[in-house]
Amino acid sequence: MGDSEDRHTAAARLRLLQQEFTTPAAQRDPSPRTPTNRPPAAPIDLGILDYMAASVAEVIEHTRTAAPDAGPAPAEPAAAYEWMHQNTADAAPEQRSVRDAMVFRQSLKHALAMGDETVIRREPCPRCACWSLFWRHTTRVAACVNRGCVDRCGRPSTWVLAQLAERHVAARNARSRTAT
Ligand SMILES: [Zn+2]
Repeated sequence: MGDSEDRHTAAARLRLLQQEFTTPAAQRDPSPRTPTNRPPAAPIDLGILDYMAASVAEVIEHTRTAAPDAGPAPAEPAAAYEWMHQNTADAAPEQRSVRDAMVFRQSLKHALAMGDETVIRREPCPRCACWSLFWRHTTRVAACVNRGCVDRCGRPSTWVLAQLAERHVAARNARSRTAT
């Protein structure tokens, strides 16, 4: 899985979030509903709007720092990833790694915002390398269920999304170094 796939996934998830949470239900689904016990459709989710704006602002800020000559950011939120990539293609390797980890972290967050926690289970635990992570809603960390995988104080290993994203990008960079 390359960085192009990661940024396309991040963009697709952001578009889906926008579609699902910021489009009034009547526009999403014009077919007449039969009466059911379903709760009324949620109104536009302002929290998601703020979340999306913050995500795009982070992408734009990174781009402007790495490439002060970058032109105007695209109007469509999800297009910001491609715009950042094009403007930072020549950045230093460390800066590209920071960029790629940010994109992957955001992509994980977009999926979690949609209620998809399988994205966490698809990442190996950075400490024991097992496929043993699950998402803890309350504390918003990925926790390892492997009993032998504990920190120095004997507590179960937990990771924030930024740590998973850094590991993901570092592992991919290592693979691409050995492949060339
Ligand atoms: Zn572990």
